Amino acid sequence: MRIFVDVARLVVFGSILAIRWIALGRSEIEERETRQGDALRGFLLEMGPAWIKIGQILSTRSDLLQPLLVHALEPLQDKVPALREATVKRLLSSTYQGKGPFEYFNLQPVSAASVAQVHRARLISGETVAVKLVRPGISAALRRNVAILIILARLAARFSTDVRQLQVAERLRDLKTLLVAQTDMAREAAQMEQIRVNLSGHPFAIVPRSYLDFCRPNILVMEFIEGIPGRDHAQVDIPPNRLAVRLVELMQTMIYMHGRFHADLHPGNVHFTTDGRIALLDFGIVGEISESERWALASFYYAVIRKEWALAARRYVDAFARDSSTLERAWPSVEARMITCLKLHFEEQVRWNTAEFTRDTIAIFTDYSARETTQWVQIELALVSLEGFVLQVDPALDLWEASRRFNERYSLYLGAGSKAIFDLEFGAAIPSSIAAAQRAKASLVAPTHLDRYYLPAAYPLFVDRADGCRITDLDGNVYVEVHGGYGPFVLGYSHPEVERALAETMAKGNVCALATEEEVLLMEVLVAAFPYAEKGVFANSGTEACQVAIKLCRASRGRRLIAKCEGHYHGFSDQGMVSSWFRVDGPVHQPAPIAGSAGTDSEVEAATIVLQYGHPDSLALLSERAEELACVILEPLPASMLRFDEVWLGEIRKICSAAGVPLIFDEVITGFRVGYGGFQQKLGISPDLTVLGKVIGGGLPVGAVVGHRTLIDAGMSTGDPFRDYEERAFIGGTFAGNRLTCAAGLAQIGHLRDHPEIFERLNTMTERLVSRMRQVAQSRNATCQISGIGSMFTISFRDTPPRYYRERFSGSDVRANIALAYFMRRAGVYMAELHTYFIGAAHGVAEIDLIVQAFDESLAEMKKRGILSDV
Ligand code: PLP
Repeated sequence: MRIFVDVARLVVFGSILAIRWIALGRSEIEERETRQGDALRGFLLEMGPAWIKIGQILSTRSDLLQPLLVHALEPLQDKVPALREATVKRLLSSTYQGKGPFEYFNLQPVSAASVAQVHRARLISGETVAVKLVRPGISAALRRNVAILIILARLAARFSTDVRQLQVAERLRDLKTLLVAQTDMAREAAQMEQIRVNLSGHPFAIVPRSYLDFCRPNILVMEFIEGIPGRDHAQVDIPPNRLAVRLVELMQTMIYMHGRFHADLHPGNVHFTTDGRIALLDFGIVGEISESERWALASFYYAVIRKEWALAARRYVDAFARDSSTLERAWPSVEARMITCLKLHFEEQVRWNTAEFTRDTIAIFTDYSARETTQWVQIELALVSLEGFVLQVDPALDLWEASRRFNERYSLYLGAGSKAIFDLEFGAAIPSSIAAAQRAKASLVAPTHLDRYYLPAAYPLFVDRADGCRITDLDGNVYVEVHGGYGPFVLGYSHPEVERALAETMAKGNVCALATEEEVLLMEVLVAAFPYAEKGVFANSGTEACQVAIKLCRASRGRRLIAKCEGHYHGFSDQGMVSSWFRVDGPVHQPAPIAGSAGTDSEVEAATIVLQYGHPDSLALLSERAEELACVILEPLPASMLRFDEVWLGEIRKICSAAGVPLIFDEVITGFRVGYGGFQQKLGISPDLTVLGKVIGGGLPVGAVVGHRTLIDAGMSTGDPFRDYEERAFIGGTFAGNRLTCAAGLAQIGHLRDHPEIFERLNTMTERLVSRMRQVAQSRNATCQISGIGSMFTISFRDTPPRYYRERFSGSDVRANIALAYFMRRAGVYMAELHTYFIGAAHGVAEIDLIVQAFDESLAEMKKRGILSDV
C-alpha cells in the first residue's frame, strides 16, 4: 500500500521539481545552478533515503555536474533534517531500559544523513562518544525507494541507451541489499572493528573504536573523533596533492592489502586532522574482495602496466565477468573492443577517469549480454565515489599515476628507476657472476636457486669461496651474509670441525645405500635431543622428510586427508606447497586449499584441509574433522613470520591427542636454530613426529623424521612381505643416511651439543641486531616490522606486525624487500631477496654492526629514491 503512496509522491514532487527546473532555465547561470540544486535537493529529501543516497553520490561528482549544483547537494552528505528531539528520547528509552549508558546525551545531532544521525554523548565511565541512531522505519522505506527506482530505471532503459548500457536496474537490485544492510548497527560495529584492527598502526588512518556492550541493532556507540569535516579539506595543513594521494593510498591499502574496504568514502564519511591524518567514519557499506579476486586484480594491473593489452583483456574478463559464455563465444571481437578500451583509458587518455572506464567496460559487457561480478561492481562504486572526493581535494591529481605508484610497490619486480641503477652498478661490480648466469641459461633451468619460479633474481651472485659468515663472489667481492644457505650453516661456512669430519670420512671412502656407523650415531644424537622421540628415519631433504612423515601417518592411521596451516611450507612436494608461499585462498578464518604451482596433482587440494595458524575457527574445524585425518602438520614457529601462538598450539595438541591424530611439527628450519633440539622445547609442547633437515646435515643434503616408535615403525618391515604391503609405508632414497652427510651432521650437531653457550650467544646477537635495526628504521621513519627469534629474523614492510601469513605476503611492500636485498649488497651484506634471514655462530659484534650500518644506508637510499615513501 505504502508503495502507491510513494509513487503518488514521486509524481507530485517530480512534477514540482520539473516545473521549478524549467522555470529556472531562463535565469542567470549561477543563480540557476544553485536554485536547481536546491530544488533537486528538496525533491530527493522528500523522496526518501535511497534517493538521498543518490544525491550524496552526485554531490561528489564535480567532474560530471556543474559545481554550484554539486555544492547545493552537499548538505545531503550529513545535513539532512534531523529526527525530532522527542523521537530521539523515545528511541533511547525504548532501546536501553532506564537511563542507559550515558551520563550526558546531546539531543541535537552533530550530523544527520539519510539512514541515521549522529549525536555527541558522554558515557557514565567518562568517555565522550558518538552515538549513531538509525531512523525508525528506515529499512522499509529503503526497500520501497529502491523498488520505485528500479521501475523508473526500467522505463528509462526503453528510451536511453546510456541507462540500458549502465544496467541501472540490475545495479540498483545489487545496491538494495547493500543499502538495507546499512541499517543494522551490530553489523556496522563488527565491520568497523575489523577495519580498525586492519588499520591499527597505519601511519595516517584513524578508525574509531566501538563500544560493543552499548551497541544495539539500531544504535552504534563509538569513540568520538574530533576533526575537520571531509568537505573542509582546505583547512588541512598538508598540501592538497599529498592529502589526495593519501586518500587514494588508504583506499588501495584496504582493497588490495586487507581485502576489506570502506566502500562509501564521500566527504561526509571522513574527518581530517590538521596534520593530514584521515579518520574514516560510517562503516555502513563495507566491501570485500576475496584472495582470488585480489590475485586476479593484481594480475590484470600487472598486464596493464606492461601494456600487454590482449593479456589484460583476457584477465579482466576472466576475473570480472559473470554470465561470460556469450563473451567467450564472440571472443575475437570482444578482445578487440576490450583492447581498444584499455588502451584508450590506460594509455591514450590524458587523465584517468574511473567512471568513464566503468561505463565503457560495462558497455562492452552489455553488448554481449554479460554482467560484471558483484564484487567488482562494489569496487567500482567505491572507487567512483572516492574519485569524486579526491578530485575535490586536488583537481589536478592524476589518479592512474597515484594508483600505479601503489600497485607497483606491491608487485614483485624492481621498478624501472632502481633497476637502471642496479644494472649499472652490478654490471660493473659482478661481471663474472652476470656472465656465468648468462652462460647457465643454456644448460640449466636456473642457476638452481636463482631463477626458478616467481622471483627471478635480477643480479645472480656466483660464489667462489665461503668462510665463516663471509662469501666471496667470482669477482673477488666479499660480503658478510645473512643468507645462511637458507638455514643449514648455523656454525658458519667451512667450520673446522665439520671440515675435519668430512675429510676423515672421505679418507675412509664415500659410500651410500650401505650401512655405516655414522648414520646410527647421528640418529642417536637426534633422538636424544627430543625427549619424547624414540626412533627416526633419514631422508635427503626437508621436502622428502615431510613426505615421509605424512606417509608414515597415513599408513598407521589408514586415512588420506591431512591438515596443514596456510603459509606453512613443507617442501616442494605437491601437498607440501598447498596454500603456502604464493597462493592462498578462502576467507582468513576459513582458508581453502589451493595448489602451489602448475603441474600439481589436481587431487592434492581435495586431500588437504587448510588451517589458519592462531585462528580459533581452525580449532573448531580441526575438532570437527579430526576423525577423517591421517595427521596434522605445521611449523610451530612459522619461519616466514617468526611469530607463534603457544595457546593455540596447546589446543591443537589437545585436539589431536583426544582424537588420536598424529601431530607433526615441521622443524626443518627451526630445528637446532633456536636452541639445541627444536622450538618445541621452548614451547613445552611435544608433537608425535618431528621433521628435521638443514642444520642436521652440517651443510650437506639431509632430512629426517624422529618421533614415537609406533609411527616410525610404520616404515619398518613386519617380517611378512604381504602384511608389509598392506600396512607399511615404503621409504627409500639411495642417498638417505649417506655417510658423508651423517658425518658432517654429527660434527655440527655434536659441536652444538657440547657448546650450549652458542645458542645463548646467537639469541643475544639476534636480539641486538633486531633492536638496532628497529631503531634505525624508526630514525629513518621507515615503516617496517622486524622480528627475530634464535638466529633468525625477518623484515616486512608494512604498518603493523602481520597476524596471519597472508598479511605477511600479500599485505606487504614486497618490492621494498627485493630492493633492500640489493641495496644491502651494495653496502657489503648479502641477503636473500625474499626469505627469512639467518645469522650464525661466526657472526661477531663487528659483523652485526656492519649489518646495521648497511641497513641504515639502504633505508636512506630507499627513502631517497622513493622506494619507501612518506605519503
Ligand atoms: N619444511 C620447512 C619448514 C622448510 O622451511 C623447508 C625448506 O625451506 C622444507 C620443509 C623443505 O626442505 P628442503 O628445502 O631441504 O627440501
